[in-house]
Amino acid sequence: MIVGVVAVQGDFAEHIAVLKELGVEIREVRLPKDLEGIDALIIPGGESTTLRRLFDLYHLTEPIASLAASGTPTWGTCAGMIMLASKLTDDRPEPLGVMDITVARNAYGRQTDSFEADVEFPKLGKEPFHTIFIRAPAIAEVGTDIEVLGSLADGTPVALRQGNLLVTAFHPELTKDTRFHRYFLSFVNSSNEG
Ligand code: GLN
Repeated sequence: MIVGVVAVQGDFAEHIAVLKELGVEIREVRLPKDLEGIDALIIPGGESTTLRRLFDLYHLTEPIASLAASGTPTWGTCAGMIMLASKLTDDRPEPLGVMDITVARNAYGRQTDSFEADVEFPKLGKEPFHTIFIRAPAIAEVGTDIEVLGSLADGTPVALRQGNLLVTAFHPELTKDTRFHRYFLSFVNSSNEG
């Protein structure tokens, strides 16, 4: 299995470190050719307006959108989640439009630039997952056929799955807990079966 990690901007090194710890072969994705033969793709957090600009510059926009739309397991964390959305409440950047969600950027405001919370994700087992939010986007609307994996105490969903697609508004790669990465890797085997 080869997992591609978009490595044009943002905290890709932290995702790569977790994947290496799990013994997974990784490929840094900077150009369209880097997407060839990968079994899964991670779009890390960073700054979505910059990500979108660099995607266009390196001709990654269309190939990443079609890879995600055609069933390859794809996970967006934070700014990566913004990129996968079908709609934003802002007019910038233009998202890739792959997943049926509406996302509000920087939704938790200046007062709560960053925060952390222990959230239960039944798919990961009984133990709550320590979630870290940094200038995080909020999921404002969720389409049909989307599974909510976990929510904050006020009911805001923070992780969603739609078939091969996973989005998290927070940063699992900044913790020592590898359960989200392992959960995502399990998509690879199930998509091979289908
Ligand atoms: N605020 C950033 C954006 O709008 C996302 C922050 C992050 O990825 N940690 O793109």
